[in-house]
Amino acid sequence: MKIYFITGSQFLYGEETLKQVEADSIKMVEFINAKISRADVIYKGMVKTESEATKFVKEINYDDDCVGMMVWCHTFSPAKMWINGLKILQKPMLHLHTQFNRELPYDEIDMDFMNLNQSAHGDREFAYVLTRLGVPRVSVAGYYQDEDVISEISAWVDVAIGVDCSKKVKVCRFGDNMREVAVTDGDKVEAQIKLGWQIDYYGIGDIVQEIGKVTDEETDALYNEIVSEYELNTPDVESVKEQVKYEIALKRFLDKNNYTALTTNFQDLHGLKQLFGMSIQRLMAEGYGFGAEGDWKIAALGTAFKKMAEGREGATFFMEDYTYDLVKGKELVLGSHMLEVCPTAASTKPKIEVHPLGIGDREPPARLVFDGIEGEGVAVCLVDMGTHLRLICAEIELVKQPKPMPKLPIARIMWKLKPDFKTGAKAWLQAGGAHHTVVSTALNASDIELYAKLNGLEFVHIK
Ligand code: MN
Repeated sequence: MKIYFITGSQFLYGEETLKQVEADSIKMVEFINAKISRADVIYKGMVKTESEATKFVKEINYDDDCVGMMVWCHTFSPAKMWINGLKILQKPMLHLHTQFNRELPYDEIDMDFMNLNQSAHGDREFAYVLTRLGVPRVSVAGYYQDEDVISEISAWVDVAIGVDCSKKVKVCRFGDNMREVAVTDGDKVEAQIKLGWQIDYYGIGDIVQEIGKVTDEETDALYNEIVSEYELNTPDVESVKEQVKYEIALKRFLDKNNYTALTTNFQDLHGLKQLFGMSIQRLMAEGYGFGAEGDWKIAALGTAFKKMAEGREGATFFMEDYTYDLVKGKELVLGSHMLEVCPTAASTKPKIEVHPLGIGDREPPARLVFDGIEGEGVAVCLVDMGTHLRLICAEIELVKQPKPMPKLPIARIMWKLKPDFKTGAKAWLQAGGAHHTVVSTALNASDIELYAKLNGLEFVHIK
């Protein structure tokens, strides 16, 4: 992944000044690049003319490895020359408002120094045009070597990588949406226009056929790997191996067809002995987005957000608001799903268990059971309002479950709504929020807001 860095200047101050602008920019980019781990920050050049600005933006747009553009104006730089370029910019942008020098050289300062170091002046000119054109971007202000500045740049890089991943999401849907459910459905054409998501349907027979091709040797090999990773808490080895077969087949099918997300539907299980349980859980842990009951929106969002959060502390996973503890003043949400909870959300070593399941009318499926992680987080959903797509982000606090739940045969997470249960729940209901979410303790509301901005989505923030 690459980020291109461009410095704005102009010819007014002469060749010597331009040489200095270039030398300082290269040093600055070297420093920033050494601090940013997820992308190479590369100095692209100086913009002094309209044609340079347009040429750079075109090259950035067409470079598939480039996820974003950073701009800083060392000198004053007349910004009309940027208009044509910025109008066609298709990559996320960061405007770095900084200076090559930290301190003013009070004893030495003269007009040459003033003319060379005037981002206070030039960046305002540049930002005016950005705002006037409505270019979505992050503005970072401060000395470029400061930790807070580097961490703001780094957070933007994460979101830029997430946005790049999001544009390329391909969702594989086994079966359609659950019958009659409203919020999990939506306009797939609009999603592709707005977000770039390719959302394809397959009959369940396609995956049943793939499962049929998995050999016992392959199954045994992965089974041995899996039981060494978790605690095997069932004598029913055959049921666990059935689920292992599903995992091999699903992964093979997705990878063969370049899918990065998937959905299933328990109303469409022809030819399957079990519902997909542990198989889906383990795929989610590998980074595939998942949506139950055909929910392609949350599946695609899961892929993008997992990518965005890569390398950060915390976890990012598919969730469902299930039931409440409504003790006055201590209200908690118990989140889970009938099987599919991502093991990256585990605070305890997952146990492989096999239990009967009333839904779907199949043999008892194997699943991973665990308690959930704690920490500050966000719960995010995407809903189709008919006229537009709305991204809703609620700030939450994931907490330790107050008591063990020995009879609950599924993984579970618990959290508090913000600012309090009543306000948070009412706001979510009024916004038309879904029951499926992506919960993350690695991402925060500003990451999600920027993702919304860069994709032209309406953003609702509950905090
Ligand atoms: Mn569900």
